[in-house]
Amino acid sequence: MDLFKGRNLIEFAERFKTDEDCIEYLSQLKWSNGFNCVKCNHTGCQVRSNHSRTCNKCSHTESATANTLFHKVKFGIRKAFFVCFEMATTTKSLSASYMSVRIGVTEKTARLFMHKVREAMKSSEDHPIDGNVHIDEFVIGGKEEGKVGRSYQSKKKKVVCAVELTDEGKVKRMYSIKIDNYSAKELKKLFDKHISKEAKVTTDKWKGYKPLMKHYNITQIESNNGLNFKALHTMIHQVKSWIRTTYSWVSDYNIDRYLSEFCYRINRSQTKENIFNNLIRRMVAADKIYQVNLICK
Ligand SMILES: [Zn+2]
Repeated sequence: MDLFKGRNLIEFAERFKTDEDCIEYLSQLKWSNGFNCVKCNHTGCQVRSNHSRTCNKCSHTESATANTLFHKVKFGIRKAFFVCFEMATTTKSLSASYMSVRIGVTEKTARLFMHKVREAMKSSEDHPIDGNVHIDEFVIGGKEEGKVGRSYQSKKKKVVCAVELTDEGKVKRMYSIKIDNYSAKELKKLFDKHISKEAKVTTDKWKGYKPLMKHYNITQIESNNGLNFKALHTMIHQVKSWIRTTYSWVSDYNIDRYLSEFCYRINRSQTKENIFNNLIRRMVAADKIYQVNLICK
């Protein structure tokens, strides 16, 4: 199939003129390796004029959007494509209220769909960092007083962040997740998801990392007010100001989704040509998600 490449909005609007253009694109991605009936596993099918597939054996019909993150998108698949395109290619901050004005849906609709896109942006956890990595924690929603000896009581949202560095000390990849406190048990969550046992890890002298030294190659050095972790702290500064200026407030429930979005774009800044397509592929591969799982209970 002819994949859409690049970040040109004019070309994008030309390519996806109607909902049908988008549905056809989705159907080609979804069944790029052939059809496989979800009910009976049969591989023979009829292609319908609306790009659905009907199983030759059990007659089950599946639409291009069924069981994907586009499942039951009611405001139009073309608008959904535009949201994906904006979120994949932007270098700026996109709030739900801005998006609602830009594509003509309610703010709530925009917010819920944007959370679905963030689900697709979530790391596969298939490529743990095995090179040089710097790790530190930070808080969202204000300054943490007296960082040495991290506070366990604070209500602020705590986050741990890993940055893989090139030999030149530049950021190669970044992963970040919410933690409940700064204990080894919580910090280990990031290691389990994103850090290979082969990685060369550097942290400041926080004692929470010490128990992890049994399993990981960790060196602890003085932070020197962040000067020894310059690239990492630049990223931390960026993610904090991005969240502060775009959303002003994010719920505990959704914070990992925002972090996924930020890291997704950082980790693909070298492959922008294919970023829209990568995102759509992930939207199609991910299972549907219901509204109740997108909002804070
Ligand atoms: Zn079937």
